[in-house]
Formats: sequence, C-alpha cells, structure tokens
Amino acid sequence: MYHWHRVLHDTKSMSQEAVIASAPRVVDPDRMIHPDEARATIFRYLWRLPMERVSLREASWRVLAGDLVSSDDQPPFPAATMDGYAVVADDPSPWREIIGRQSAGYVADLEVSLGTAAWITTGAPVPSGATAVVPVEATELADDHVIVQQDRVAPGENIRPVGVDLAKGSLVLQRGSLLGAAEMGLLASLGVDPVEVARRPRVSVLSTGNELVEPDETPGPGQIRDANRFSLIAALQEAGANVIWAGRGPDDAVALRSSLIERIAESDVVITSGGVSMGDLDLIKPLLSELAQVHFRRVFMKPGKPFNFATSSDTLIFSLPGNPVSALVGFELFIRPALRRMLGASQIDRPRTRVRLDHTVRPSDRIEFQRGIVRVDSTGRLLASTTGPQASSRLASLVGANALIAVPPGVDPLPAESHVDAILVGPLATGDDEKDVDTTGS
Ligand code: AMP
Ligand code: MG
Repeated sequence: MYHWHRVLHDTKSMSQEAVIASAPRVVDPDRMIHPDEARATIFRYLWRLPMERVSLREASWRVLAGDLVSSDDQPPFPAATMDGYAVVADDPSPWREIIGRQSAGYVADLEVSLGTAAWITTGAPVPSGATAVVPVEATELADDHVIVQQDRVAPGENIRPVGVDLAKGSLVLQRGSLLGAAEMGLLASLGVDPVEVARRPRVSVLSTGNELVEPDETPGPGQIRDANRFSLIAALQEAGANVIWAGRGPDDAVALRSSLIERIAESDVVITSGGVSMGDLDLIKPLLSELAQVHFRRVFMKPGKPFNFATSSDTLIFSLPGNPVSALVGFELFIRPALRRMLGASQIDRPRTRVRLDHTVRPSDRIEFQRGIVRVDSTGRLLASTTGPQASSRLASLVGANALIAVPPGVDPLPAESHVDAILVGPLATGDDEKDVDTTGS
C-alpha cells in the first residue's frame, strides 16, 4: 500500500528515501502536521516517471533520464583559436614562406616545416608539422613571406588540443540535469538526438465551487471567475508537467465523484482546488475519504492550512483550498517539489536563504509564508519586504513576488533587521532595477 516498489528501484535516491522511511507515519489524517512532515509524507508515495525518447528539438527544459558520456573528443582535431599563421614553434627563421591556406571546414594538403607558415583561420585544423599559431596582429606580410613580430612563439600557442573541451569517455551531463541552453548545445555538439528524458507527469486540474464561471463569462450575482485553474496550469507548466485535462465542477457530490474517478484513472497527479474546508458543501474532503487513501488534511501553516494529500493506487491527489494564494503557496511548497522529484530532477527545491527584514512583520499563530520581494543591496546583503496586505484571497500579493518569507509563529512583531528564512521562487531583484534601464537609446 506504500508503493515501495516504485520508490526503491531508484538507487540514486536510496539515501533520501531511507531518511524519509524513518519519518513517523501519519496515523491520524486530521492531525495538524508541520510542513516538513507534510513534505516527508508526500515523498514517501512518490515514484519515478519512466523515460521517453524525444527529438533534440523537443528536449529544451526537460530532465535528462540517464548519465551522458561523451562519445567523441571535442574538438576532434587540433584547432586554431585565432586567425593568423600556423608555424613551427620556436622557429628561429627571420621570415617564413607562406605555403598555403587552411580555413575552417576541410583539411588542406599542407606540411608546415621550419621556415614556412600556413595562413589559418579560427576553428580550422592545424596543418601537420605546425605546433603553434601566431595571431595575424603579431605578423607583417612581405610578398609571399610573413615576418613574425613576437619574441617567442611557444609550442601549443593558440591551438586548442584534441579533447580539451570534452574528452571522449568523460561524463558530460548527469541524469537529472535540466536541459537548458548550455546543456542543449552540448547534446547537439555530441550528436545526441533523440534524447532520453523523463516523461512529463500527466496532471489533471479540477476547480470546484458553485460560484465559479469561465474567464470569458460575466459573473452573475454571487459568482466569480475561476482563477485557480489558470494559475495552476501556469505553475504546472513551469514545473515540467503535462496538463492533460483542466476543468471546473460544481459543489455537487454526484458530479464531483464521477469527475474525480475519471481523473484519477487517467492521471499521474490530480490537483483540485476548493471544497476542503469545514462547510457542508466542502465535498472534496468526504469524496477523497471514499475514493482514496487520505494521508493528511491539515498543515500548520498560513496560508493553506487545509491541504489534503491522498493516493489512489499510483495516482497522487492534492486537494488545495480555494483561496487563490493558499492554492499557489500549497503548490509551491509541496506539489512542485513532488513533481520535480518524480521527474528525477537533480534540483527539486527552490533556493532557500536567510534574509533581513526591511520592515516590521507581524507573525501569526502558524508558520506564515508571506509573499515578498528579496533584493540585493549595494553591499550584497539580501533584504526582504512583503508585498502589502497578505490576505489569502489577494492574488496581487503574489504578483511580482520572488520569495515566500517564512515567518515563524509568534505573538510579538518581528522588528526590521530580523533575520528569517526565505524561499526564492523567482530571480533576485536588485535595489534599483528601474534606474538600470536606459530607454533613451543614447
Ligand atoms: P473554498 O476553499 O471552496 O471554501 O473556497 C475558499 C475561497 O476561495 C472562497 O472565497 C471561494 O470563492 C474562493 N475560490 C474557490 N475556488 C476558486 C477559484 N477557482 N478561483 C478563485 N477563487 C476561488
Ligand atoms: Mg468552495
């Protein structure tokens, strides 16, 4: 029932899994648990997504499924790093006869010896006999001769030896690497196409609530537009998921039940929003108890205290509260790392750092993840300020935020200058972003 077979076949994660296995199991799903325990519990049910082969063109920002060993030397031939003349190093001749040209892309039939030189361009193979390249700036041309105006031409100067960038047989990329710009270039230069990457998790998103209408509808009395489906889709895409279905359902037990059954059958991960609070129309909670095994329902945090985690066979089900900020904070803290872990990504977490508060912050009775902006000041210190009112309904508190500032529970306000932990969910701001931008074109 704990799917150990899915987790433990992955040897690379053994040590992490061993730690997690020793964590206490949640016996009572209604017990309020610490965010760390919530995460550890989720991680016990994760399994590794299988690999798939995709064409190199499709591989950007995917997660590499296996170690990549170089099949070639890079460069494959000794190559000039400058435009100039290929010569014999330490040749004492006062001038050298130019015996031909070697540009990039082919191999000219040239043999450089004492007293001779070959014109060569950057990236071209160094002709046989030549042991150095003199940059054109350090030479003077005299008819069909070249005079080297450099005291000494040392062996190997301005030549990239075979394999210096990448030696054949060396480990180029580790499994779990995210295929960004540099990684994609490496794959291309080694001729790796198709590429073996982790299959994307198939995720369904279900917004629940009688009050919800579509973004292109005009809400009637008491209605609002469904925001969560769209923010969750974006968050899922950023995390590397494949959103196979996204829809909306009323607070109706029969409709939600059949929708959930279908979504669980088709998805690796199901995410719902709304319907996990204490009201009698909060139907997700009882439905999860009926259709799945619920592991916990409440986390000691703000926002997002009602966070349900359940499994049904291999499918993971995360049920988020309806308030848009609560839903996204829950996603960021628990679902995103879980998806990255299933993908086998070597980096599953956002960076976490200590920051200095820029102003007084009022704590709550739970760990509060306040939305904030962390910036680097001119002395390199990290300063954090919050994004205004922190109501869990106020999506604007997340707009422009690059951090979740973890404010420990307490009674007394935390004064400015206090140090707290922050999770960086976006790039660091600099103190004076606007000033850096010159729009005058001058
Ligand atoms: P619930 O968790 O269902 O009790 O909803 C809590 C609050 O979030 C209520 O004010 C809902 O109207 C609101 N809410 C629920 N779902 C959504 C959604 N998909 N988009 C925007 N607001 C929502
Ligand atoms: Mg609701």
